[in-house]
Amino acid sequence: MAGDANDPKLRSWVEVAANSHFPIQNLPFGVGCPKAGGELRVCSAIGDFVLDLAVLDESGAFDETPVAGTEAFHEPTLNAFMALGREAWSAIRQALSRLLRDDCGELRDDAELRERALLPADAVELQLPVDVGDYTDFYSSREHATNVGTMFRGAENALMPNWLHLPVGYHGRSSSIIVSGAQVRRPQGQTRPDDAQPPVFGASRMVDFELEMGFFIGPGNASGDAVPVGEAESHIFGMVLVNDWSARDIQKWEYQPLGPFLAKNFATTISPWVVTLDALEPFRCAGPAQEPAPLENLCGDGDGAFDIALEVWLAPDGGDATRLCQSNFRYLYWSMAQQLAHHASGGCNLRTGDLLASGTISGPTDDSRGSMLELAWRGEQPLTLDSGEQRGSIQDGDTVTLTGWCQGDGYRVGFGECSGKLLPAH
Ligand code: MN
Repeated sequence: MAGDANDPKLRSWVEVAANSHFPIQNLPFGVGCPKAGGELRVCSAIGDFVLDLAVLDESGAFDETPVAGTEAFHEPTLNAFMALGREAWSAIRQALSRLLRDDCGELRDDAELRERALLPADAVELQLPVDVGDYTDFYSSREHATNVGTMFRGAENALMPNWLHLPVGYHGRSSSIIVSGAQVRRPQGQTRPDDAQPPVFGASRMVDFELEMGFFIGPGNASGDAVPVGEAESHIFGMVLVNDWSARDIQKWEYQPLGPFLAKNFATTISPWVVTLDALEPFRCAGPAQEPAPLENLCGDGDGAFDIALEVWLAPDGGDATRLCQSNFRYLYWSMAQQLAHHASGGCNLRTGDLLASGTISGPTDDSRGSMLELAWRGEQPLTLDSGEQRGSIQDGDTVTLTGWCQGDGYRVGFGECSGKLLPAH
């Protein structure tokens, strides 16, 4: 369905650096408005530029696509476009690919249109791209679940008995999902620092990041209708980076028996550009072998993982960033298709704009652990930053930045950044 828009040899007349996350092979979707003023509209990205899809739509660029006449690009969110389905998303990406390739003069040689449609990225304020309905967070990294289980229950009981049979998850909070660049306030909450003393209320002393990725639901499913695992990807609009900020001391005291609550719901940061599965298709790969084999309704054909390199960086206030970890989306035990099929298997209706996140993505090596909890092993092995400072958790003024990309031959299909600065508690 992606057609030749994924051809590695394609080049755009817009200059794109080799390490840019937004070559002509990506063409993600987002929402922004010019800093000079104007309404929110749907955008795409190419190199260091943002493409205004509302302007292109008015120019007739999409008249031959299913988006024609829908006004979906004149919306302040992607939801209307997401609801149109994969045929529409693919058609738009292919139309953009054609307009931007180096042998097409339609937009390149139309100075008046180009001026209005192609804006320098630093002249555009990117916004939360989706009106997020429900937010679900899974726990799909075997390495992460094993690390955390070992810390809290010992190596013998690290994985719970259900873990290898279903993608464990919980219902999160969508109201506090924010876009990269928004600041995060250190939460207050109830903790019990001393098991021999009563609990106390105050600022969390163990704020952490979680390196995750998430996917947005395009067309949903009717209540009561399961989604076969083989059809699950047709419901997925695209993917973003997710930092599921966590207060470990609050989590430790509150999480039993119903799971995390206030420890997780104060903020979740996502990256502004949604990368489509079409753009990710060349990077599809096998996930880990699943043993025991999942039950039939979770068994899919073909590869369900994607080779997406992931990194987390931490910069103290006013200082340079240090890379804390390197992981990969392909390490996840449960695929997105399995997560989605499991979510709907009991009859739960997923809706356009829902966000389903992976859970912390840890890998097999010490430096691929996707949270500070694991990297610093509960604070017992603090990390040393390049500046010499130590960290067992995130400190006030620290900026945490997630990034991720697929490495092609001479180009990268990337997600940009998912960044947030931690402010002191009120
Ligand atoms: Mn999480």
